[in-house]
Amino acid sequence: MFELSPLPYSDSALEPHLSAKMFSFHHQKHHLAYINNLNNLVKDKAELQGKGLVDIIKASAGKADMAGVFNNAAQIWNHDFYWHSMSPKGGGKPSGDLLKHIEQDFGSFEEFATQFKTAGTTQFGSGWAWLVLDSGKLKVTKTANADLPMAHGQTALLTIDVWEHAYYIDYQNRRPDYIGVFLEKLINWEFAANNLKNA
Ligand code: FE
Repeated sequence: MFELSPLPYSDSALEPHLSAKMFSFHHQKHHLAYINNLNNLVKDKAELQGKGLVDIIKASAGKADMAGVFNNAAQIWNHDFYWHSMSPKGGGKPSGDLLKHIEQDFGSFEEFATQFKTAGTTQFGSGWAWLVLDSGKLKVTKTANADLPMAHGQTALLTIDVWEHAYYIDYQNRRPDYIGVFLEKLINWEFAANNLKNA
């Protein structure tokens, strides 16, 4: 049985940028619902029992008859990854190797920030914007619904949830403002640097 992981900080730690009220819905209701759904779906599929989350995601990716399993498993992974992509001490620019890698692959940090903001803003409907490592190169990508980099042979370094449920309580329809605050105040470069190191 999968369980809801606790947030890596208190539910008010990211205020005033993201509120405890938002987390009470996004973590305690939306994220939990994916876990309850997956537990129910796995119960009926002998071939998935005892498998870890990543194995379930890989086994179900791209399979029409496993779309429900994939959507819920990937959304569990995406949300855990998203919580860690933010920090109460986040925002601004990375340093060290990660900054060098960003400058090398994007031309400048500002170009990365522009691409990330554009990806998040232009993702039509629900989805995610990512910083990924793809064949040794850093890239900004966007995915729809539950889709995620590991289904495309990429390593995720950071993500922002741009489903409406991620920002509506705090930002209503102002998705670009939410993405701007994520970059300026919340983005967890330490997490991205660790993911790059372990890639
Ligand atoms: Fe979400």
